[in-house]
Amino acid sequence: MRRVIAAAAVVIMSAALVACMPAKSGGGGVDAARMAKADADNADWMSYGRTYSEQRFSPLTTVNQANAGQLGLAWSAQFDTDRGQEATPLIVDGVLYTTTAWSKVYAFNAKSGAPLWSYDPHVDGQRGFSACCDVVNRGVAAWGGKVFVGALDGRLIALDAKTGKEAWSVQTTDKSKPYTITGAPRVIKGKVLIGQGGAEYGVRGYLSAYDAETGKLAWRFYMTPNPEGKPDGAASDKVMAEKGAATWSDGAWKHSGGGGTPWDAMAYDPELDIMYVGVGNGSPWNHLKRSGGKGDNLFLSSIVALKPDTGEYVWHYQTTPGESWDYTATQHIMLADLTIDGAPRKVLMQAPKNGFFYVIDRATGKLISAKPYIAQNWAEGVDPTTGRPIEKPGIRYEKNPALMIPAPYGGHNWQPMAYDPQEGLVYIPAMEVPFGYGDDGQFTYRDGAWNTGINTLLSALPDDKAQVNAMKAMLHGRLIAWDPVAQKVRWTVDHPFFWNAGVLATGGGLVFQGSAEGKFAAYSAKDGHLVWSYDAGNGVIAAPATYEIDGEQYIAVMVGYGGAAPLAANVFLGNQPRKMGRLLVFKIGGKGTIAPYPKAPDTGVDLTAAASTGDATRGFALYHQNCSVCHGPNVSGQYLPDLKRSMMVQTPENFRSVVIEGARKDRGMISFATFFGPSQAEDIRAYILKEAKGAGPPPPANKPPVSVGK
Ligand code: CA
Repeated sequence: MRRVIAAAAVVIMSAALVACMPAKSGGGGVDAARMAKADADNADWMSYGRTYSEQRFSPLTTVNQANAGQLGLAWSAQFDTDRGQEATPLIVDGVLYTTTAWSKVYAFNAKSGAPLWSYDPHVDGQRGFSACCDVVNRGVAAWGGKVFVGALDGRLIALDAKTGKEAWSVQTTDKSKPYTITGAPRVIKGKVLIGQGGAEYGVRGYLSAYDAETGKLAWRFYMTPNPEGKPDGAASDKVMAEKGAATWSDGAWKHSGGGGTPWDAMAYDPELDIMYVGVGNGSPWNHLKRSGGKGDNLFLSSIVALKPDTGEYVWHYQTTPGESWDYTATQHIMLADLTIDGAPRKVLMQAPKNGFFYVIDRATGKLISAKPYIAQNWAEGVDPTTGRPIEKPGIRYEKNPALMIPAPYGGHNWQPMAYDPQEGLVYIPAMEVPFGYGDDGQFTYRDGAWNTGINTLLSALPDDKAQVNAMKAMLHGRLIAWDPVAQKVRWTVDHPFFWNAGVLATGGGLVFQGSAEGKFAAYSAKDGHLVWSYDAGNGVIAAPATYEIDGEQYIAVMVGYGGAAPLAANVFLGNQPRKMGRLLVFKIGGKGTIAPYPKAPDTGVDLTAAASTGDATRGFALYHQNCSVCHGPNVSGQYLPDLKRSMMVQTPENFRSVVIEGARKDRGMISFATFFGPSQAEDIRAYILKEAKGAGPPPPANKPPVSVGK
């Protein structure tokens, strides 16, 4: 597995940049003392959210509203993958570290852009099947001369920060289960913290802490009880016995493990010596199927506070008790000191998927306030005394489907927020997307398959094109400047598409954000007016980072369209194609150039003459149960190959070779032979051909009516 690729072979450099500046020490020599002073360290960006408070605010003022118009490309790089790019680069002692899709790591001279080394963990392509939301990676952690990456296949890998050589590697998950890692590790007091994803397919979530020097497991905290009712010998045993286990009832969680994967957010308060982790949704989503519709199901959709030395439980706050909608609380956790009602408060802030912005006392876990930051229709509000949401009737879709907002995409997803202490504003990359939830009466748990327990036919598009357009008009993506004390919007910027991008705020009074259609922009932190923008030629969803070398401030951002929404809903995002990932780095007066993206070759074939003996009506249901999450509802997807124009659909033999025999498994399209047989595959093919001929889906008798949840 140990293999360092010759960096130059993989990274195509733009001509202007190879100035051959020697790197400074580049040791990734981050330690507790440096992290403690990270707020004041203007030059570097040493952790995923810059500091332990994860505010993503840099005090740098060299680039500001007066001169941001002169920002130009300092240097750039192009990578070898066209899947989604979600990493925030780290910059330590003159070296920039970033990751791409498929968990590859790159180090560059942060001033010149000269590539220093790269590392490919050679993740088996089949693992891509278990990645609900693209084969992305959000970046590395740095500590003690090493950088750490979580690989998609569940490995945590330590690399020598100077050379990129593997120092140690541990398997953090059971490889026989559909676990994935997409999140960035954090390092607290010499321990590397890492969670995982996979709850849609059926896994049990936990947070692990490994010794940064040796890779030895220090502690583990499970987010759901052991389905066999026994202790795990883990840090979570005590609280699971005292609080967690009683909140679960009989249901599919005993097979799936219940979910609760902590796949993204962490933060740390060194004064309180408490770390915080955000916990994911239930597995399956549907509470009725997961736990008989009973119990809060701790610690799903919760913020959990732990002691970083031992993993000992401190407190928890559950944002969505009895989670049933993929309303995770894995979204960005941010710490700040605010003055509320005249008193200084140490708070934790989160805008989880459920649409409410939470301000919580981070010492005690007590709710201070919660207000909706987007339109939502599932709760009247959050009870200030109990901290529980006041649910509206019908939202649990036990009897009738419910059209709800937010969707499983959330009011806010993994895209990081930023907090500007000068303005007192949190900048939220927010989304408004409705979604029809309904109980899947036929649900049976299938090992390793898409296991949500909801009626997937409800996600099929209406037959009427005008209705599809009307749906499009209901989807919104916007940058919201949110006052967390007043709990209200200060200003907003609307984006053309709902799928949003991560945010950076700076002391120069600027808020930097990309967008799914490829604009990378700087807005005024005060009022949101556009100060500067750059056409990246490809969707930008990652959050930028900023750093300073020799008096010059740089803004770095990963470019690459992808993630959950382009996979499942590209039809609502302009059906943008995949383009190669890039890293763009800007500075004042930058004169660098990068070649425009070439036009993608058209490899589609005409399927209108192809025929099938399969049953398209059966295929319609099978398609939406098994295929639509990656290929889009009604075969609308054009992010992964457009099946309506795919050679692999042309003949029954071609189709079977992929769907049953796994001919494309190296790209994540595994064999579905464990889920259905060749005759069902041909039914799916018959349905795809129907869509390819523009005939649309079979009669709507298959689609139950959707009511609006009130
Ligand atoms: Ca999820």
